[in-house]
Amino acid sequence: MALFITEDCINCDACISECPNNAIYEPDQEWSYSDETSLSGTVTMPNGAEVDADEEKEPISDEFYFIVPDKCTECKGFHDKPQCASVCPVDACLIDPEHEETEAQLLEKKEWLHGA
Ligand code: SF4
Ligand code: SF4
Repeated sequence: MALFITEDCINCDACISECPNNAIYEPDQEWSYSDETSLSGTVTMPNGAEVDADEEKEPISDEFYFIVPDKCTECKGFHDKPQCASVCPVDACLIDPEHEETEAQLLEKKEWLHGA
């Protein structure tokens, strides 16, 4: 499952540099699939949808740091534990029950983001 950031976030910036997928953004920041990944141009997502990896997307939160679920792999393929949750001083990075995924799906997402 992807993680999400709760309203307990104090916008301390500790998590952003820890994410191996650049899935975390500052409040009110536009994001794209291509930010710090190997994706560019038109790409096919693991779910079969086509997206423009370079398109700047609307911020998910304008108040708190946020995680893009389609870029979060729970740190699978890089670390044993979610790094954002490990460094967050207020435990604001939690597993998102609305984005249920198997370990195989998370590893597939990691390969999609960065190449095999
Ligand atoms: Fe990034 Fe890992 Fe946190 Fe997901 S769990 S947002 S991949 S640091
Ligand atoms: Fe800081 Fe936690 Fe918010 Fe990240 S989620 S900015 S580590 S308080």
